[in-house]
Amino acid sequence: MSFVERYQELELLRFMTCGGVDHGKSTLLGRLLVDSRSVPEDHLEAAKRNNEVDFAMLLDGLRAEREQGITIDVAYRYFRTNKRKFIIADAPGHEQYTRNMATAASNCDLAVVLVDAGEGIIEQTRRHSFIAALLGIKHLVIAVNKMDLVDRSEERFDTIRRAYDAFAARLEVTDVEFIPMVAATGENVVQRSAQMEWYGGRPLLDHLENVHIASDQNLIDLRLPVQLILRGDDGSRHVAGTIASGVVRVGDEVSVLPSQTTARVSGISHRSEAFAPLAVAITLDRDVDVSRGDMLAHVRNIPTLSREIEAMLVWMSAEPLQQGREYLLQHCAVQTSAVVRDVRYCIDVTELRHHAALELRMNEIGRVSIEASRRIAFDAYSRNRATGAFILIDRMTGETAAAGMILDRETAPEEVLTPVRSLAAIEKLLADYGLDADSIEEITAIIASRLDR
Ligand code: GDP
Repeated sequence: MSFVERYQELELLRFMTCGGVDHGKSTLLGRLLVDSRSVPEDHLEAAKRNNEVDFAMLLDGLRAEREQGITIDVAYRYFRTNKRKFIIADAPGHEQYTRNMATAASNCDLAVVLVDAGEGIIEQTRRHSFIAALLGIKHLVIAVNKMDLVDRSEERFDTIRRAYDAFAARLEVTDVEFIPMVAATGENVVQRSAQMEWYGGRPLLDHLENVHIASDQNLIDLRLPVQLILRGDDGSRHVAGTIASGVVRVGDEVSVLPSQTTARVSGISHRSEAFAPLAVAITLDRDVDVSRGDMLAHVRNIPTLSREIEAMLVWMSAEPLQQGREYLLQHCAVQTSAVVRDVRYCIDVTELRHHAALELRMNEIGRVSIEASRRIAFDAYSRNRATGAFILIDRMTGETAAAGMILDRETAPEEVLTPVRSLAAIEKLLADYGLDADSIEEITAIIASRLDR
């Protein structure tokens, strides 16, 4: 079986839903689970009231689960159709909960962002979209819900779509799908809406079942973080770990990082090749020095080796980030002490503006430079979510203080953000002139599409 076939066989889509309070998230998820016939009967019984299913109530179990645990901020729900398996990550939607959303998003392939058709694009829409993009989600679905409150108007839908495009033009998201919806009646959730015939696209479930994610997996750069070394009875030695990305074949020449000693792969646990995300035990043809925390990569395609890291941090601790203070940095199987040398800026997530900052407080996102006490092997997060992510741990309390995404040093985020920043400025200017929100949306959409060309 080739790795492509194998990957297709797995077909698991991890997605999350986000949006403002009362936009209909619970209703939508309830609909999705019930109409696709994925809900266990007992849940359905509990949610029945006067012979009607209260879809928002169906999700209450999930909420309770979330509130019980101090450490569990994200709840997961599983369902499957005959096309795919799904895991839904549910993070609290309140705007303070950036860290919960970031945690959920770091594991997701796709995010469904709910927009209230009456309200249009609001602060949370932008905030959630930015966090999803920052955490490497490549597929967004903008679910324009409560279309019944705007007469299921195609014009209204198009206005919202243009306003969103204007904002999202500079986000690194390759695939944005807009779906007009009435979650309350299930229109365009699982079943196509008979009352919005102008919409030529697919209902949400159809899209979730078919969105192409196989190529999101990095199969180019072999990265195998070493989790442990196994010894066979015959004295043989096996390097074990979960392949973070790429493909490894018997005969490949690999480099052990950070020492950069090389060896050839002489065996891979009863197979000739293996690929992410499989766990494997590999034998090497030479007795090289290798231990937990090292990483294997192909000789001609190795990650960056450095003590210095440029990264975006999502600060998660009540105790603000202090420059110069020592933290524990965990990256793949490595733990090392590290110091944040410089907070370059803090991002205003709503406006995509950045401002100077000396510290980062809980739920804030900012760019920093970090110096680790030893060299680590990493990639940019945008290229490799597994080897580009790390966490900072507070040494005193042992709690996770921040989630980090390593930046490609070639691209300066300042440049990426400037056009959006000026668009926001234009928006403000137009508002000062007294233009109504719809006109502003329309004008900025036009400007954004010009800038794009
Ligand atoms: P959440 O806070 O995002 O989880 O939102 P809920 O699912 O609890 O929904 C908030 C309110 O909006 C509830 O009163 C729902 O019945 C209502 N609602 C949800 N979807 C729709 C819709 O498509 N149309 C209308 N008119 N109301 C809806």
